[in-house]
Amino acid sequence: MRVEMNGNYVELLMGDITKQQTDAIVNAANGSLLGGGGVDGAIHRVAGGGFLEECKRIRQDTLHGAYLPAGEAVVTSGYHLPAKYVIHTVGPVWKQDEDEEKLLANCYKNALKLAKERGLKSISFPSISTGVYRFPVHLAARVALREIGNFLNQNKFKEVAMVLFSEEDYDVYENTLKNRI
Ligand code: ADP
Repeated sequence: MRVEMNGNYVELLMGDITKQQTDAIVNAANGSLLGGGGVDGAIHRVAGGGFLEECKRIRQDTLHGAYLPAGEAVVTSGYHLPAKYVIHTVGPVWKQDEDEEKLLANCYKNALKLAKERGLKSISFPSISTGVYRFPVHLAARVALREIGNFLNQNKFKEVAMVLFSEEDYDVYENTLKNRI
């Protein structure tokens, strides 16, 4: 499904984010930036050793050894991925309090802000926090599409894709997007 917003496009796709050829893909990263399971592991496997080295340097130099906090974002090159850049953001672990929604919104806001600052025109997101971090996908879809919509309504970008990994998730995002427009 592809929808125009203020001269930009939001697209919902089913597939593997490591294959996306957008300027950037977003990693639902582990705060250590050293890789993990799910989409994080898949991105590290394809991107390769140089990618891990750059993640380690950011961890050391920018974060002074600390974990990247939930909701924040940093950028690296894409190395062996088709995407030029990877924007790493850490989703909140679902604990059923209001802060989690705000932190998830910050993931989308900060990733889009970084993409804009870098002059990028297209970006692909996975469904942040809805895997191992157990955020309910219906709620996550509302937060994601609201933040993407707000950004596209205020900026000349080009394309924001949500790359869903299952038909169930795709259907939830599609129904949420249909209800917004
Ligand atoms: P989190 O820890 O933020 O919950 P996960 O990686 O566990 O992150 O899951 C986030 C979402 O990414 C889940 O919906 C999962 O199915 C999906 N996912 C896993 N691998 C990929 C992939 N290669 N491309 C796109 N989405 C993926």
